[in-house]
Amino acid sequence: RTILRELTELIKKNPDISSKDTLPPMDPSVFQKRYLKKMRDLGEGHFGKVTLYMYDPSNDGTGELVAVKALKQETGDAPQGWMKEIEILKSLYHCNIVKYKGLCTEAGRPEVQLIMEYLPLGSLREYLPKNKTSAAQCLMFAQQMCQGMDYLHSKRYVHRDLAARNVLVEHSSLVKIGDFGLTKYIPEGEVYYRVREDGDSPVYWYAIECLKELKFSFASDIWSFGVTLYEILTRCESRRSPPTKFIEMTGGKEEEMSVIKLIRLLEQNQRLPCPRDCPHEVKLLMDQCWDANPDNRPSFSKLIEKFESVRR
Ligand code: ADP
Ligand code: MG
Repeated sequence: RTILRELTELIKKNPDISSKDTLPPMDPSVFQKRYLKKMRDLGEGHFGKVTLYMYDPSNDGTGELVAVKALKQETGDAPQGWMKEIEILKSLYHCNIVKYKGLCTEAGRPEVQLIMEYLPLGSLREYLPKNKTSAAQCLMFAQQMCQGMDYLHSKRYVHRDLAARNVLVEHSSLVKIGDFGLTKYIPEGEVYYRVREDGDSPVYWYAIECLKELKFSFASDIWSFGVTLYEILTRCESRRSPPTKFIEMTGGKEEEMSVIKLIRLLEQNQRLPCPRDCPHEVKLLMDQCWDANPDNRPSFSKLIEKFESVRR
């Protein structure tokens, strides 16, 4: 209150410091390219490339670190989906979802870049193989993912790309969902979103109905969460990764593995194996996430309850 009183006094004595004419309106979500200093590459997926920058408008080294996502190449109709991804992230506020910070445009270039908070430990794919993570910590990460996802579903979005590579690590006890590049809105009253394109899909994370009918629903995110939980509990070890395991299960080589074979395997009720130190109750949860019938899979709010009781 003292500060407020002092401020009022100050404004009374210097009327123009509070007037709009002297201070140009500053939009904190507009980042100017010339103040962004590249530090290093953070990673890339199918569509985007993420780079670490220091944003330092006062040019005295007091700037902040930000992660900047740009489209990898300007493909025909990508920009539309890209703007959608930005709009979606901008509308999300949750402690387990990566924070939107703003945009950056470059003179002469049509596409905008997405500025988000920088998560210093990268994705779970980078973090887990390098750090000793206890089973309890793994379950905490899983529960935090469910919290972020429960929020996303409450806004009627399906993520469609849940995987360890898209979960970012702030510190050893906090993760956030990232990469909303494939996220779709499901209108009230509808149950699924049917995609037209197929191509470069993360098929080993897909539910059976996504592979067979390209139908994406809240329940198909649950399936992908189950696969991500498997990745977390195997500490993202590449010899136990979902693609490696599924290819092994068909006894084939990577080149021979087709979506047809994957569907056949899942229809025979074959699933990823139980990770080494996985508690029995957690294995049961995983199997529920992989139920062939989407209606039998738990919701994220149900999963949160389950994790709370398992972790107790
Ligand atoms: P794509 O849509 O191409 O898959 P992502 O958004 O998943 O792009 O980002 C690619 C990779 O960049 C991630 O797997 C992660 O390693 C890294 N990354 C993305 N966002 C951040 C961030 N905010 N902080 C740190 N690393 C990030
Ligand atoms: Mg990604």
